[in-house]
Amino acid sequence: MPETKTYTGGCHCGRVRYEVATDLAMVMECNCSHCSKRGLLLTFVTPDKFKPVAGDGGLTDYQFNKKMIHHLMCPDCGIESFARGKAPDGKEMVAINVRCLDGVDLTALSPTPFHGRDM
Ligand SMILES: [Zn+2]
Repeated sequence: MPETKTYTGGCHCGRVRYEVATDLAMVMECNCSHCSKRGLLLTFVTPDKFKPVAGDGGLTDYQFNKKMIHHLMCPDCGIESFARGKAPDGKEMVAINVRCLDGVDLTALSPTPFHGRDM
C-alpha cells in the first residue's frame, strides 16, 4: 500500500508554495480539453490535507464549461500547481498537480485515465 506522506510543492517561480498530505494512490490523467493541453496529472485531497504556505492570494482564476473548478495559476510564471473545486457530491476538494510536487518520480506512477472530455 502506498504510504501517506507530506509533500511540498508549488509553481515554477516559487511564489506559490504548499504542503499536502497524500499517498498518491490515485493519480488521474484527464483527457478534457483543459487537462490535455496542460498535461495535468492530478490527485485529489480534502481541504484539511492541503496547507497553503505562500502565494495563495492573488492567483489567476480560470474557469470554463460548468465552472465547477477554479484553475488557479501563478500570475508570474503561469503554472497551475493546484485547483479548487467541488466533488460531484458537493464536497470541497483540492486538485493537486502532481507534476508540481517536489521529489516525486513521475515515471513510477501509473496514472488512471479519466474521460473528462465526455463530461
Ligand atoms: Zn510562479
